[in-house]
Amino acid sequence: MAKHPVPKRRASATRGGRRYSTWKSKELKRLAKISKTVPCTKCKSPRRPHTACPVCGYYRGRVVVDLAAKDTKKVSKVKA
Ligand SMILES: [Zn+2]
Repeated sequence: MAKHPVPKRRASATRGGRRYSTWKSKELKRLAKISKTVPCTKCKSPRRPHTACPVCGYYRGRVVVDLAAKDTKKVSKVKA
């Protein structure tokens, strides 16, 4: 006896097609979520939401990433 679940019948092409018919739309939704961008408030370049701008280093109206200092990207929080 097989120790794992074994399908009793072969899945038809229709059945398989029905199952995978939702795959593309789900995948597109997932990719759309990943690639979602909002314009930067300072330089208007697209950036990921809730992240510092990769172009100017601004987040919520102040510099959070000092792009001039390349080896230390994160700067301690400046009181603005
Ligand atoms: Zn910016």
